[in-house]
Amino acid sequence: MTVVAGLNLGLVDLTAPVAEGRRSRASLEAAALEGAELLKDAPAEEIARWAAATFGDRFCVTSSMADAVVAHLFSRAAPGVDVVFLDTGLHFPETLKVRDIVAKTMDVNVRSIRPRMTVGQQDGEYGPRLFANRPDECCFIRKVEPLERALADYDSWATGLRRDESPTRANTPVVAFDQKKGKVKVNPIAAWTQSDVDSYIARWNVPVNELFKKGYGSIGCWPCTRRTKAGEDPRAGRWAMFEKTECGLHV
Ligand code: SF4
Repeated sequence: MTVVAGLNLGLVDLTAPVAEGRRSRASLEAAALEGAELLKDAPAEEIARWAAATFGDRFCVTSSMADAVVAHLFSRAAPGVDVVFLDTGLHFPETLKVRDIVAKTMDVNVRSIRPRMTVGQQDGEYGPRLFANRPDECCFIRKVEPLERALADYDSWATGLRRDESPTRANTPVVAFDQKKGKVKVNPIAAWTQSDVDSYIARWNVPVNELFKKGYGSIGCWPCTRRTKAGEDPRAGRWAMFEKTECGLHV
């Protein structure tokens, strides 16, 4: 039986293979099942400690740099942890500023992952403003493929997904096995409300994107993000001209 961070983790030996590289799919699936059961009502800090202890160097945090709450949470649970940022080339300057502050002030290793094509190369190959015509293709080139490439180095990754962000995220589990990616997805603040996020930011003085003060409820690439109106859900300003609600990173 394995005990990690004060948790009795049952029958699966979750820690042994980490140093030897990538775990088998079956081992990761078992770890996800066990984590989901153990941690479904656990505080975010405990989920972060479990993920760090379970996956070791084969674990990273992904951050959109809307705020740095999850990066900060893991800087405490797993100092030096990799934080993957998808640098699409179409971010607001305010977003890049949060990334740079995180890199300078937190005990994490920020990795900015770029698409295979610059925006100019994409314009040349697919025509200008692909985001306005075929946003799924643009998101694939600038977000989905780069994430797949970045995650090749890991068995598990953490996100800042929260159930209260939108109806499409209402059933987000704290730990789950992603069948498509063959990796364990950890969502330590899935159960948090906006008020929980605000309290954490205030308590730890966590960097936050300045655009939140300017009427934005959720922040992505500048061409596909608008301010939200009173009463709208926070993600209503993303791809507002399309039916699209997700970039494809979380499906
Ligand atoms: Fe392209 Fe918009 Fe997706 Fe950014 S959010 S990758 S600009 S479609």
